[in-house]
Amino acid sequence: MATIRKTNTKPELIVRKLVHRMGHRFRLHRRDLPGTPDLVFPGRKKVIFVHGCFWHRHNCKAGRKKPSKNVEYWLPKLKRNVERDAKCVKELRSAGWQVLVLWECKVRDSERFAAVLLDFLGRRDSK
Ligand SMILES: [Zn+2]
Repeated sequence: MATIRKTNTKPELIVRKLVHRMGHRFRLHRRDLPGTPDLVFPGRKKVIFVHGCFWHRHNCKAGRKKPSKNVEYWLPKLKRNVERDAKCVKELRSAGWQVLVLWECKVRDSERFAAVLLDFLGRRDSK
């Protein structure tokens, strides 16, 4: 998994920039949390994952795309990604974290997704 996990991908940078502009402070890639969430808000007990549609099998065009090579190798691997994602979210939630998963394709639709972020994080001054 570690070998195919891409960090600091473009959608992730977009998210960070926007969250930063909203005035929220966050930590990156906390390895001590299940799934190493991309953005962590320790004070609010919230985490955000920014998932690539292909790697995490989003229900969209990119996520349904089959690997072009080595299908026998990649399909099970992708399936394990999805199972692992679900498991991590479950573990985080049972530990009291609120989890938001953002998909690469949605992040590109930046206006709508900014509203989703604001909804999840709330205003900075309202704790
Ligand atoms: Zn997608």
